[in-house]
Formats: sequence, structure tokens, C-alpha cells
Amino acid sequence: MTRAPSLLVHCRQAALTFGQGHRAVVAVHGTDLGIRAGDRLAVVGPSGSGKSSLLHLLAGLEQPTGGTVERGDALTALTTGLVFQSDSLIPALNVLENTALPLVLSGRAETQAHEAAQSALERVGIGDLAGRLPQEISGGQAQRVAVARAVAQSPLLILADEPTGRLDHTTGAQVLDCLLEAADHSGAALVVTTHDPAVAARLATQCAMRDGRLLPVKETS
Ligand code: ADP
Ligand code: MG
Repeated sequence: MTRAPSLLVHCRQAALTFGQGHRAVVAVHGTDLGIRAGDRLAVVGPSGSGKSSLLHLLAGLEQPTGGTVERGDALTALTTGLVFQSDSLIPALNVLENTALPLVLSGRAETQAHEAAQSALERVGIGDLAGRLPQEISGGQAQRVAVARAVAQSPLLILADEPTGRLDHTTGAQVLDCLLEAADHSGAALVVTTHDPAVAARLATQCAMRDGRLLPVKETS
């Protein structure tokens, strides 16, 4: 089996079932999906429809229980930027240290990691918050930190799981702006899950998730 060279991630009938027997929950039914460099994909669906599960498959955080998910060789923990819904910052680390953490953990020298982190924070408009602790910033600011952390390493793929889910409309729109700009900056593919059609409409391509099934893709005109 060969992967088309331009595909970062290729799901072929990828499925994810939790539990076994009569307790089995099919979170994702056999799904075909290819993510290419530069893609802007929204996965929109209600709570429980399987959005996070699909994103975890794309991230390599879960292994498919059926079908295959091929992730390109260039995709590593460092070149995949993850943004979770909330509360993903480490309370004891300041904003700069939180942002630099993936780089430091991957072995980058601290000075370099901090420089990259500071520049990512500036790109998302919160360079002045670098020294604050997570409890000293707002929810919207914390999501910007999560975006900065995901993009500091110039990822090839950014996966954001309901990044605006707990934010008011204006703040959510700003966080989405940050994600789109960051993806443009590093030339990354961006996949965003959301239950909000207005958020989904900001991405070039949308697909709907219902009961673990991905419904046909719609291009935003
Ligand atoms: P969404 O992100 O759209 O809210 P999820 O992917 O979180 O949906 O969940 C899809 C389905 O899979 C739901 O029925 C959920 O209860 C179930 N599920 C998700 N994660 C687990 C898990 N770790 N163990 C068991 N069931 C799970
Ligand atoms: Mg979810």
C-alpha cells in the first residue's frame, strides 16, 4: 500500500470502537478521509457525534480498531500541533514556559525554545502575557496560549478540538483568526472540530459528523 505523496494523513475505512461486546460504542464508523498540506477542514457535529474521536485518530493519539490511518513520515509529535477545548495549560508554568514546553520536551535548547515560544505568543497577540501564570489570564487568552503552543514548532498539521467551545462569540472568532493565521504562517493543514456552524463556515471545507459517520464534504463558497 502506498500513500499519495501529498497526503499528510490518510484514513481508509478508519473506525474506532470503545469497549467490547454489548458495551461496545462505535465512536467512528469506517471513514475515508485524506488531509493535504494547506487544507482547512471543519468537522461540525453535535456532542457525542465522534468529532474528538476522529481527531484523535488523525493525531495518532488513538489507533483505529478497524481500517487504517496512515500518517506521513514527516508527521511527528512535534510537527502535529494539538489544541484542546480547555484547561490544557500546566498551572505551575507561566505562559511562556507552557508555550515552550513541547519544544523543550523534544530536546530543543531552552533559549531557542523560549524565543520560538515568544514569537508564537506575539503572533497570536499576547506577547505581553508571557510572564503570567494560567490562573492570571482569561479563558480566551488561555486558548490563545494553547494555539501559540501548538504552532510554536511550525507544525505541518494543526488539529484543534472545539477550540472555541467555551468562549463567547467574539473571543471565539479571535481565537479562530489566530488559528487560521498560524496555519497560513507555517503552511500547515488545519482541522477544527466544532458544534457551531458559524465557526465551521470560516474554514474552506466543511464536513458534518453524525453518530460516528462523516457526511459529504461541503466547500465554503
Ligand atoms: P464528540 O467529540 O463529538 O462529542 P466523542 O468522539 O467524544 O464525540 O464521542 C463519540 C462517542 O464515543 C460518544 O458516544 C462517547 O461517549 C464515546 N466515547 C468517547 N471516548 C470514549 C472512551 N474513552 N471510552 C468509551 N466511550 C467513549
Ligand atoms: Mg469532543
